[in-house]
Amino acid sequence: MPVDRTTWQTLKDGLEASGVTLVAVSKTQSAEAVKVLYDYGQRDFGENYVQELVQKRPLLPDDVRWHFIGHLQTNKVKLIVPFVYMVHGVDSLRLLQAIDRQAGMAGRHVSCLLQMHIAREESKFGLDEAELEALLEETGNDRGLSNVRIRGLMGMASLTDDEGLVREEFRGLNGLFERLRTGRFAGVPDFDTLSMGMSGDYRIAVAEGSGMVRIGSLLFGPRGG
Ligand SMILES: *Cc1c(COP(=O)(O)O)cnc(C)c1O
Repeated sequence: MPVDRTTWQTLKDGLEASGVTLVAVSKTQSAEAVKVLYDYGQRDFGENYVQELVQKRPLLPDDVRWHFIGHLQTNKVKLIVPFVYMVHGVDSLRLLQAIDRQAGMAGRHVSCLLQMHIAREESKFGLDEAELEALLEETGNDRGLSNVRIRGLMGMASLTDDEGLVREEFRGLNGLFERLRTGRFAGVPDFDTLSMGMSGDYRIAVAEGSGMVRIGSLLFGPRGG
């Protein structure tokens, strides 16, 4: 069950006042539930699974901005590139090149965020700083690839009650984002997006400079109960 309109509006307005975009994470939620938030005025929705996104999209209005926030397999890129607004989890050159190629065929530009591994926890996903450096070297920033726009960074903090640790991880990611924005990407005005923060830690993320939060359970209730 989605939250009521006032709860959504209060969250949305509070974030907007800090210049933060709210992405409503609708994975595992029905198209009907998504439509409730759409009718409140929500336009940015995040999905994790290609198949689910491809099935849900035709059931919703065309002006939804779909964010793909999960791990994207190269062989599934072509299914979402024709319509997706932003891909948050890009963590390899191969994936970036696949998106570029498919976007070229679809005749559009796709916004991408590079996913950084910031959590202390082990995870298969996300780049470390050396890998980021190598990827950017090989693409010549985003100038070598004409159909993708590298719009910024995305990261997920450790799943922990240790707020100090979460804060430290977000602070580190914001520091890196700022170094890139004023360094390598100086003069690239659309390198403008830092996606960090979920239901449990978005307040900390916003305090540490997030520009985009991905919020699911706080808006839709717990998943798969
Ligand atoms: C599921 C998910 C979210 C939202 O999580 P909530 O805790 O429900 O807000 C945000 N980001 C990513 C990458 C996710 O997979």
